[in-house]
Amino acid sequence: MKKILFRFAVVLTGIVVLNSCSEEKMVVIEELVAVETVNVPLANQFVENQVIVKFKSNVSLFGKSANSALKLIKGTIEEVISTNAMQAEKMEKSLKNYEILVVNTELTTMEAIGLLKGHPDVEYAEPNWIYGHYATSNDPFYTNGSLWGMYGDATSPTNQFGSQAGEAWAAGRIGSSTVYIGIIDEGLMYFHEDLAANVGRNPGEIARNGIDDDRNGYIDDVYGWDFDGNNNTVFDGVSDDHGTHVAGTIGGVGRNRLGVAGVVWNVKMMSAKFLGSNGGTAANAIKAVDYFTDLKTRHRINLVATNNSWGGGGFSQALFNAIERANRAGILFIAAAGNSANNNDVNPSYPASYTNANVIAVASITNTGALSSFSNFGATTVDLGAPGSSIMSTVPQRSGGRIISGYVSLSGTSMATPHVTGAAALFAASRPGVTASQIRTAILSRAVATASLNGRCLTGGRLNASNF
Ligand code: CA
Repeated sequence: MKKILFRFAVVLTGIVVLNSCSEEKMVVIEELVAVETVNVPLANQFVENQVIVKFKSNVSLFGKSANSALKLIKGTIEEVISTNAMQAEKMEKSLKNYEILVVNTELTTMEAIGLLKGHPDVEYAEPNWIYGHYATSNDPFYTNGSLWGMYGDATSPTNQFGSQAGEAWAAGRIGSSTVYIGIIDEGLMYFHEDLAANVGRNPGEIARNGIDDDRNGYIDDVYGWDFDGNNNTVFDGVSDDHGTHVAGTIGGVGRNRLGVAGVVWNVKMMSAKFLGSNGGTAANAIKAVDYFTDLKTRHRINLVATNNSWGGGGFSQALFNAIERANRAGILFIAAAGNSANNNDVNPSYPASYTNANVIAVASITNTGALSSFSNFGATTVDLGAPGSSIMSTVPQRSGGRIISGYVSLSGTSMATPHVTGAAALFAASRPGVTASQIRTAILSRAVATASLNGRCLTGGRLNASNF
């Protein structure tokens, strides 16, 4: 398992800017010195000496032939993944064997997969991929303080290439507290001053009573679940900055005279944390995706999309199947194209490159309308561009012994993706009963043609939320 960690420091100069459009006051904390660890995903990282195995549906999981397959690779079962969403699919399709096994093996992962691929009882065997998030770096020279990603041609003469969310706000479309968004990422600072009002709660769970009130398998999962730590604390400190930053772009509280404003001012965001300090595994990504699929169907909440600003592993049939369960539940899977300046048509970047109908893959543009230097692209495999360079948003910050609400600028397809996710929530809020497929069509068909994206993505354009 290879891992690259970059440590870097950034100094932001203090500024206060009044954003006349949204009446947001933006405060960049003076002389802030933030030192962060960014986990840069390398293609094809996986947990060595481990495989994800799915037996064919007629094979008994603990029977003789399954046992012989495990013996073949000198394997022992580390975990049996059996989510509620999988069980629902089992009932629906009358499946016998539906569980996914995480198996430790004495062989190398690739040796074990080679042996299992030819095995008559094995449906698929694949690595337990490791993913990282898709933020690139802080922007040390960020000085203008404007949320350029929210502007557009009618709202700012100097910021033409934003999402045009400001025009939707001006038309009175600011979202709805009945629309939920799932954030699959690091954790989320749910008590951040500019997020708290838009943080969703599991409607079936009573906080801190030690009981799994809604019987979804997770005790006291009020704001979501931490699949990395396997507990209910979706916020674990300043290391959850990436997930918190993504949340601020989707749904930072608008018109509260604090910090930033998200694309959608009124929304309910919940967290499925699966990225920890060492990234996140495919096994936990699957559980995170299924968590929201189950939450939506269990509580009949209008959960329209998950935001997925992460990637790095190869193809996973198990994750593809989880995204397909989300698709059937009417949940969009909005994913970052990746930060390797790579053509995804030639070299797929997962999860953005999955072909499920609910996937929207997002490239990053700068405030001059250029494709960001780091951004992946793909004429057929990336759908549209959105603001991703120098994006100001919410983060947790340490101040003395306390954690306080902060704001920093980050760049990446990680930052572009939540603009699209916020737009999906905005669109859903003003059109009750709209389907995931209709939201997706609206996002793609209303993209504005942009020279830098011509031939670089399916729509050849950038996000336009003006009539959302
Ligand atoms: Ca629960």
